[in-house]
Amino acid sequence: MRVDHIAIAVNSAEDALENYKKLLNVDKIEIEEVPNEMVKVVMINLQDTRIELLEPTSENSPISKFLKDRGEGIHHIAITADEIETDVNHALDKGIKFLGGLRTGSYGRKITFIHPKSLNGVLVELCQAPPQDDGQTLENKI
Ligand code: ZN
Repeated sequence: MRVDHIAIAVNSAEDALENYKKLLNVDKIEIEEVPNEMVKVVMINLQDTRIELLEPTSENSPISKFLKDRGEGIHHIAITADEIETDVNHALDKGIKFLGGLRTGSYGRKITFIHPKSLNGVLVELCQAPPQDDGQTLENKI
């Protein structure tokens, strides 16, 4: 397993990207709206992980609630799973609590979230790329 991305809740993805560009050598960015999560995602590809800037697209988005309660900051850490159903079942057997079921997130990946109470206050996303995805970014494959 490895860290797939670190997600940061932001008020404006464009403004946040400008900040991150001051530090990071950003040359690979992917932007996507995920309607069922009510977020706009700006993915900054780093050498061995990614930073995901999450901007809410609706008042009803969980990210809107997060920003209201806590302000901008780290929202979750995502870890890749090879066999997500197996990993979820093992974790359930050990008493880990999940938030909702498996669903489709950005870039067609299967994702689910683990309740922060199960992991010492950190919201963790488990994600698995679609079968045809070999882990490389879209740009690398084209
Ligand atoms: Zn994520």
